[in-house]
Amino acid sequence: MPCGSPGSRNNHWMACICRRRCWVVHGAHAGPVFCLTAAIHGDELNGIEIVRRILHDLNPGQLSGTVIGVPIVNLQGFHRTSRYLIDRRDLNRYFPGNPYGSSAARIAHSFFDEIISRCHFLVDLHTGSAYRTNLPQIRGNLHVPEVAAFAHLFGISVILHSEGAEGMLRHAAVNAGIPSVTLEAGKSQTLQESAIRYGVRSIQTALNKLGMVKNDTDPVELESVFYQSAWVRVDHGGILFSRVQLGEKITKDSVLGIVTDPITNIRSEIVSPHICNARICNRDEALLFLRSD
Ligand SMILES: [Zn+2]
Repeated sequence: MPCGSPGSRNNHWMACICRRRCWVVHGAHAGPVFCLTAAIHGDELNGIEIVRRILHDLNPGQLSGTVIGVPIVNLQGFHRTSRYLIDRRDLNRYFPGNPYGSSAARIAHSFFDEIISRCHFLVDLHTGSAYRTNLPQIRGNLHVPEVAAFAHLFGISVILHSEGAEGMLRHAAVNAGIPSVTLEAGKSQTLQESAIRYGVRSIQTALNKLGMVKNDTDPVELESVFYQSAWVRVDHGGILFSRVQLGEKITKDSVLGIVTDPITNIRSEIVSPHICNARICNRDEALLFLRSD
């Protein structure tokens, strides 16, 4: 376990299958161990910068507990600007791992065993994959009371219930009794200042509410908790001209966009299905994702 004397700041190289660097800020006062992980998908960059800003802004002398930051979990993917490991496996489907399994399973095992299993809280940072952009949001298994309570600490306007797939880091961590959520913000392969600031402020809000730091965070935004979500898909091929923005509130029969066939010039409207109180939470090049409470 990376650790140091109270009030210290250390960085460590994790000697496993690949060398993964993590930061540990060990507070002068007693408190929980709070872990931040980013770039499990190696092309998701916003979280890397969020971890850096959080860890380097902490004052060990005024911190209660320990904050661990792993800015790049998937170094193989990061070096190749790829979501995946070298063998095309998705590392975020192999937790808690297996010391005798595939390369992905071994990486997952060493990471989970040496760092995650020793933490009291986990925030795993992600962005939309491929060309998708995610509205800043917290995802977690809200059916687990400890996770639901943790999810409400961030002051984020969108909280989405998601049990998570088998093998995901937060899924495995919750199974190990560690309240864990995913913080999604922005899109992959780029650094987005607004998403980064939003993520930093949200995590600072959570640290404040846990009593680990004292800071003047902005007022908490009004939360919307969503228990259902669905992609809106089109029946006809063509080019999408979107009529909605990320985060926009949608009502039944709202026109989400127009699909135009460039050959036949046939145009068709995409109309919101029978959903009330929904918001656009993810945008793809040709798809829209609605959430409803
Ligand atoms: Zn991801």
